Amino acid sequence: MVRDRTPKPARNPRLRGLQCLRCDALYPVTLTHDGCPACKRAGFHVALRASYLPEGPDGLEGHDAIPMPYGPGFTLGEGHTPMHEMPALAAQFGVARLGIKDESCNPTGSHKDRMTAVGVAQALDFDAHTLVLASSGNAAVSAAHYAWAAGLGCEVATYEGMPATYARQLDALGARRYVFADNAGRWAFVRERSQHPGYFALTNYRLPALGSAPLAIEGYKTIALECLADSGLPDHIVIPTARGDLAWGIYAGFRDLLAAGRIARMPRLWLVEPFARLSRVLAGGALNGSYPGHTAQFSTAGATVTYLQWQAATATGGGAVVVGDEEARTARRLLTAAGVSAELCAAAGLAALRQLRESDAILADAHVVLMLTANASSDPSWPDRPV
Ligand SMILES: [Zn+2]
Repeated sequence: MVRDRTPKPARNPRLRGLQCLRCDALYPVTLTHDGCPACKRAGFHVALRASYLPEGPDGLEGHDAIPMPYGPGFTLGEGHTPMHEMPALAAQFGVARLGIKDESCNPTGSHKDRMTAVGVAQALDFDAHTLVLASSGNAAVSAAHYAWAAGLGCEVATYEGMPATYARQLDALGARRYVFADNAGRWAFVRERSQHPGYFALTNYRLPALGSAPLAIEGYKTIALECLADSGLPDHIVIPTARGDLAWGIYAGFRDLLAAGRIARMPRLWLVEPFARLSRVLAGGALNGSYPGHTAQFSTAGATVTYLQWQAATATGGGAVVVGDEEARTARRLLTAAGVSAELCAAAGLAALRQLRESDAILADAHVVLMLTANASSDPSWPDRPV
C-alpha cells in the first residue's frame, strides 16, 4: 500500500536544544541520543532533555504551561486517560485518596503511546524513514502501530520469548522483528542501526543505559497536567519503572508546572521495581552498575539504572520500592476484585503503597496516584494462579 507522505509536524519555536540533566550543557537536537559528552568524560553517563526558551507573558494557559517539542505533532489520540477514584481501596490501604491513572486507555493499550507519538513527530521532522527500538512488548506494539499510521518503517529488537500476542501484532503492522538473547545484544543492534541515515532510535541503545530519545520522553509530561486537572495535585505518585522514562517525564511535567506557578510543591515520586536496582543505587551503589534479577514483571525487567530514574526519585523526595512477583500478584487480585485490570508491574504499585504506608513514608491523610501503565490483556504472567 502506498500512502501519502505524512505532513511534517510543527516544531515548537521555543525548542532551543537538548540540555544535560546534570551539568546543563546545551547541545543541538539530533536523531541520535548519546548523552552528555562532557559528563561522560568525567565518568557520568547522563541523558539530555529538551530545553525551551522562556515562556511569554501570555503562555500560562493549558498545555503551554508544559512546553512540548511539537504542536500540533503526530497523534492517534493518546493521552487524556481516565483517573479512576478508588475510595474503597483507599480506605483499605489507609490513605485519604487513591486515584488510578489508567494508561491502558491509550490507543495501543499502554503509556508508551505518549512517547511514541512525539518520537514519530521527531522522525517526520528529521526526515527519518524508520523507527528502531528495543522492546519486549508494549513499546514495540506502540511503535509498530504509530509507525504504520505515519507511513514509517519499524524495526524491533526483541527476545526469543516474546509473547505471541505481541509478535502477531508486530507482524500484522509490518514491523520487522530481530531476536536477541539479552539487552546488550538488542541495544547493540539499535545502536548500529541508529548510525545509518534515516533511522531513528526511539529507545535506549547505550550501556550504561541513558534512557529513550529525549524529545520522545517529553511525551510523558502531559500526565502531570492531566493529574492536576483530573483530581488536583497528588501528594505521592507511584510509578512502575524499568529505566525511568515515564517517571522522569512525570517529574519534568510537574517541574514545568512548578516553574509556571501552577503548583506550589512537587509530588513525591516512588519508583517501583521488581528487584533491587535503583534501591541499591540510592543506598550507595554505582549508578552505572549492573543489578540483574529475574521477574515475571516483564515490562520492568532489566539490570540497569539511569540518571533519569535517580533524578526523578531524589529531586522529589521520593524513592524506590522493591515489589517481588508474589507480592505483585496478591495486589493484582485486589485490583481485579475492584474491577481494575493491570499488568503485573502496575499491580506492584499497589503493593508498594502498602510498604510505603507501613514505613510512614506515605501518611494517612495522603492523596496518592498509581500509574496503571497497561492492563493484563497482553501480560504473559496473566491470568494469576487461583488461590
Ligand atoms: Zn553534562
